[in-house]
Parts: sequence; C-alpha cells; structure tokens
Amino acid sequence: MKYTLDTIPVLDAYRTGCECPLCKMRIQSEDSYIDSMLGAAYMEPDCRVRTNEIGFCSRHFELMYDRRNRLGLALMTHTHMQEVIKSMEGILAGEMPKGGFLASFSRSKGGEETAPAKIRARIGGCVICDDLNNALNRYAYTIAQLYFTHTEFKQLFESSKGFCLPHLALVLEMAGKTLSAEQTKTFQKKVAEIEIENLKRVEGELEWFTLKFDYRNTDKPWGNSKDAVERGINKLMGAIVGEEAALPAHND
Ligand SMILES: [Zn+2]
Ligand SMILES: [Zn+2]
Repeated sequence: MKYTLDTIPVLDAYRTGCECPLCKMRIQSEDSYIDSMLGAAYMEPDCRVRTNEIGFCSRHFELMYDRRNRLGLALMTHTHMQEVIKSMEGILAGEMPKGGFLASFSRSKGGEETAPAKIRARIGGCVICDDLNNALNRYAYTIAQLYFTHTEFKQLFESSKGFCLPHLALVLEMAGKTLSAEQTKTFQKKVAEIEIENLKRVEGELEWFTLKFDYRNTDKPWGNSKDAVERGINKLMGAIVGEEAALPAHND
C-alpha cells in the first residue's frame, strides 16, 4: 500500500508537546469527520453508498447523536437500516442450513459462518473508524519519514513524550514496513529510548499522585501529578479519559 506524507498536521501536533501526537491528531480528525458527516457529506451519493453499506460503530453513533443535526443522522440511519434489513432477511431466513432454523444458530460443521457470527459481522463496520485508520496510518508513515528528512521535526521528535502504547505499536509497524532496514533500526532505537523514559516519567507522576493521599504529604506540592491518573490511563490505552480525550466543544 502506498502512503502519502501529511507534514503540517504532524508538525502542529508535535509542537503542542502532548503525551501522544497521534492521539492528538486522532481526536482532531475524529471531530472533523463527524462534523463533515453531519455537515454535508451525507448528501453526497458516494458517501451515502458507504454509510448505507457499512454504517457506524457505537462510539461514532454516540458522538454524532451528541451533535444537533438530527435530520442528517436520521437520514443516514434510515437508509443504512434499509440495507441492514436486506442482509438480515438473508441471514435469518434465506441461508438456513439443513438442520433448520435452530441449527443456523449453532456452529456449522462445514466451517460456514453461523447466523450470530454473520449478524455480528454485519454490524461490525464503521465508516468513520475506516477513515480514521487511514488517516492515522498516513500520520504514522509521515512521522517515520520526516525523522530522516526534516531537521525541525527530528528535534521535535527527540524532545517529544513518545506515544500511547497502541500508537507506539502503529508507528513501529509503519516504520518497519516503509523504512530501509538500517533506518528502521535507528528509528526503533530512538523510539525505544524516548518511550521508556516517558513511561517511567508518567509512572513516577502516578506514584506521587497515590503518595499525596498520605497525610504526611498533604502540604507538599502536586508537581505534575494532578492529572496523572488520566495521563497514565491514556499512555497505556490511547486517549480515552480526561482532557486529552475531549473533543472540542460544539454548539451546533
Ligand atoms: Zn496515542
Ligand atoms: Zn467508529
């Protein structure tokens, strides 16, 4: 697969000095995809073909529901539901194995998918997740490339706070796939150094958070530990709690 460079958002995210620049770009992309989905994209036939077929995951249905455009959401949900009903007719009635209706709900011997597996697969896709994954692959690719081609980025990268662990895996994978063997080695070494140092920093901040509950430490300063629980969880799992995970406020 060919990836393209997307330099500006990567530089902007690194300049904020955040715990994981890929999380920062994920939140920004997610916000703009939701916006455009409910803005006008759903009126475009190409987009509608995709949303009808693929639909959305629970997170993205929820985030779209939180915005005000009920008509846009209703139109997309309606025509997606029509497609899903067509699939359900096939799954529940048309493709019953010999054992009859009940047999279609247990694992079949021929290795065919059973009805429950087909139902889960039918609702397992998400247009916004697909677009986000593509964007994040592009950003991870850009990070690996810029490290060897862009002096300012190299400096930003070397003074950065590493990544959350899911994005650490993504960046290492992308580097392995797209850099030369020698570059991959250099990049991995630098990433490992930055990551371990910053995991230990957050771990220390989290420890101080717990020690602050000891009455002997009540009057001692918090340092960077006030939001250490949020940052600890987000460093492990990607931005899911607290300010780092918050989408920009909307009054639309
Ligand atoms: Zn991340
Ligand atoms: Zn999704």
